[in-house]
Amino acid sequence: MNYEELLDRALSQVPKVEFDRSRFKIPDPEIVMIGNRTVLKNLKGIASALNRDPEHLMKYLLRELGAAGSVDGSQAIFQGKFNSSLMKGRIERYADEFVFCRECNRPDTKLVKQGRILMMRCEACGARVAVRSI
Ligand SMILES: [Zn+2]
Repeated sequence: MNYEELLDRALSQVPKVEFDRSRFKIPDPEIVMIGNRTVLKNLKGIASALNRDPEHLMKYLLRELGAAGSVDGSQAIFQGKFNSSLMKGRIERYADEFVFCRECNRPDTKLVKQGRILMMRCEACGARVAVRSI
């Protein structure tokens, strides 16, 4: 066996440690309904826990909810009524698509633009994957 083969074999014997996603807690959405509007009070807090730009998360939520709305300071205001479990589900899907690494499940990722393509790059394992632009 040559050196390369030995190295391959040694690497394949290193146990692959997968990150347990449940250890990473996404803050619950704080929702207040005002008339026909829904205020997500902690948009900024959720975005910073996910290490993402609040505007990016907002764009995703508007699109997924099919709603109009705007960012107001640290909160988001949506036209329409959206309860917290609906909002929570959308935020979790956002995290699946734009935060957690597809390879190692860690949230230590960054979105980087490469030309016209948005890539999610993992700081922990180096994996890169193209994500859709929203
Ligand atoms: Zn990774």
